[in-house]
Amino acid sequence: MRDLDELFSKLAESSFRRRFRLREPELSYFRRRGMETIRDHAAEFIEKRLAPANPAKDGKQTPYRNHPVFVAQHATGTCCRSCLQKWHNIPKGRELNVAEKQYIVAVLERWLLTENSCYQ
Ligand SMILES: [Zn+2]
Repeated sequence: MRDLDELFSKLAESSFRRRFRLREPELSYFRRRGMETIRDHAAEFIEKRLAPANPAKDGKQTPYRNHPVFVAQHATGTCCRSCLQKWHNIPKGRELNVAEKQYIVAVLERWLLTENSCYQ
């Protein structure tokens, strides 16, 4: 897990990560449902798709669109266990712990709120 300010400045230097932006329909979905609900969705996705020691289809488990959290995951390197290891120093091959899951939700929330405020 990394310091969030440091992480977000590194993400801003990545031309690949920077390409992911919240667009329609993800933006209006985010606004309609609100941060609290979206945070619950994020926690569910993490639990099902990232938390197991060996997640199903790891590396391909996160779609590129249709939910704001999916876009946020690609933008923040929280899309699969390899990216979690590379960007967040969270080792592969073991189950995520509670602190790590909360950290990922915090990363996603920060990205989503920043992204949302860019379009006001
Ligand atoms: Zn990935």
